[in-house]
Amino acid sequence: MGLTTYKMLINGKWVSGSTGETFSRVNPANPREVLGKFQKGNKEDVDRAVDAAQDAFENWRLTPPPARGKILLKFSYLLEQEKEKLARTMTAEMGKVLKETRGDVQEAIDAAEYMAGEGRRLFGRTTTSELRNKFAMTVREPLGVVAAITPWNFPIAIPAWKITAALVCGNTVVMKPSSDTPICATRFMELLEMAGAPKGVVNMVTGPGGTVGSRLASHKKVRAVSFTGHRDTGAEIMKSAGVGKRVGMEMGSKNVTIVMDDADLKLALDGVIWGAFGTTGQRCTASSRVVVHKKVRQKFERMLVERSKKIAVGDGLEKKTEMGPLVNEAAREKVKSYVEIGKKEGARLVSGGSAPKRDGWFYRPTIFTDAESDMRICQEEIFGPVLSVIEAKDFEDAVDISNGVDYGLSSSIYTNRVQDTMRAIRDLQFGITYINSPTIGAEVHLPFGGSKSSGNGWKEVGWTGVQFFSEEKSVFVDYSGKLQKAQIDTDEKG
Ligand code: NDP
Repeated sequence: MGLTTYKMLINGKWVSGSTGETFSRVNPANPREVLGKFQKGNKEDVDRAVDAAQDAFENWRLTPPPARGKILLKFSYLLEQEKEKLARTMTAEMGKVLKETRGDVQEAIDAAEYMAGEGRRLFGRTTTSELRNKFAMTVREPLGVVAAITPWNFPIAIPAWKITAALVCGNTVVMKPSSDTPICATRFMELLEMAGAPKGVVNMVTGPGGTVGSRLASHKKVRAVSFTGHRDTGAEIMKSAGVGKRVGMEMGSKNVTIVMDDADLKLALDGVIWGAFGTTGQRCTASSRVVVHKKVRQKFERMLVERSKKIAVGDGLEKKTEMGPLVNEAAREKVKSYVEIGKKEGARLVSGGSAPKRDGWFYRPTIFTDAESDMRICQEEIFGPVLSVIEAKDFEDAVDISNGVDYGLSSSIYTNRVQDTMRAIRDLQFGITYINSPTIGAEVHLPFGGSKSSGNGWKEVGWTGVQFFSEEKSVFVDYSGKLQKAQIDTDEKG
């Protein structure tokens, strides 16, 4: 069978890019397997897609939100029907194990269901007025054409977070997916079309981030950019977007799990192993640091090392596999280089630290101990299966170490003491705090996003997704029949 050439979606048509150039993607578990050819879009393609989205906006904006929601509900059913196929495609395309890729699709189903219901809410507020015979309320309005620039690690879930929220609010969308997961992006768009998204309402341009993503972010007709990816890319996008555009940033992190001396260590072990090595450590919420109370540090470390050595590394499509490959060669090189940095910094390598001898971008689950909070391996995002164990004297020390990074997406603590639980909720400077569970595992009806360099204040999904993708307009209806001046004509006697 020949290699499939995939197209881009512009104005309801699957089209080639204007240059006709293509790029390819391989299976990270078996880089000799080429998965397809994809359009290498450029600025002109972005312009065409944005124009199509602009043309489609007027009618979509006026489509009643419950009708927009119905399309999203149908989309959720289609995702459900296609779940297994999509999961297998995703594992072959970006490497994570089947159980996780099924979870990725499930998250998209959940997001679509939530946003379908939002079509019957999109609440504004009614409130009081300072003046007699005057009514005040807010209504939600769409922004216009919005851009979704997405990463490869959740190639169905993250587009769903962004695009279902954007659509129910009445925006039209241009998506620029990661060049590592263009097949998932294509399937995602096909299902949205099948669900009834009218032409031009959703568009997709594939191609290099520096060209396609950058043009999209800087485009004058784009009213908002929702980005998930690396912090450096986020900084570029901020520059490209300039002023007057809403920009939502979900970026990297250096997440942490605290294990206190009274913790259920078996439970903590399951949580730290899953948090550190799930998705091969390539989740924005992955815990790459575990801060352990000094009284249980040695014991917990032994448990961690023993368990990490048993993790079955392999092709995510095989049933016995627990951890798949890294997404590409550059990602594995980055992991290798951080392992060398860790050794040079004086941390002690106690598990992994090498790649198995086989094809594919695999790397063994790796653990450093005797790590210090200011080491680079404890400060910088590695985005791979590398965990650092840091010892803490007491609760305060554990919180200080946890907060001592530039990032702030996800944190967790294992303890049974209510005092430490409540203080952790209050003191950990992260967008998410879990108690007695790992740092990973978002739910689509709660805000998702980080503080410090992990984000820029906007959050995704749930009601915060609606807030990002809509404008809350204040409306005043004066039925007094005379000119009333706020702050001036407020004399009650009058
Ligand atoms: P990247 O930042 O490399 O890429 C993300 C997207 O941005 C891709 O579509 C990419 O395109 C595009 N892009 C690249 N350069 C530019 C540019 N100059 N202008 C506009 N767009 C551009 O991230 P990864 O895909 O490698 O994802 C991993 C990162 O994402 C990690 O740092 C991780 O922490 C973060 N992440 C954060 C999450 C969160 O919610 N906080 C969730 C998931 C991941 P192309 O692929 O063509 O380069």
